[in-house]
Amino acid sequence: MKCCTCNIDFEDREAFKEHMKLHRQAKEQARKEVSDEHPFYCVCGRLCTGLHELHCAKFRTAVDRREKKIFKKLVNSSIAITY
Ligand SMILES: [Zn+2]
Ligand SMILES: [Zn+2]
Repeated sequence: MKCCTCNIDFEDREAFKEHMKLHRQAKEQARKEVSDEHPFYCVCGRLCTGLHELHCAKFRTAVDRREKKIFKKLVNSSIAITY
């Protein structure tokens, strides 16, 4: 089992599932945070509709960047709990 995002191989199935859960969690949180920070206008300055965010490259880039930050934090805190 391999995480293509991080390029890490997992021997343990549970560890892999846990890892992918963190990715999902980070993505959800990132999308929510960026969206909440721009309630009326999108990151790109256009008027915000739910549909626009789905197609906006700038919005997606902002979410990706945020996701990486959140993911790092999640990984660190999950390591702190495990060990
Ligand atoms: Zn990963
Ligand atoms: Zn936009």
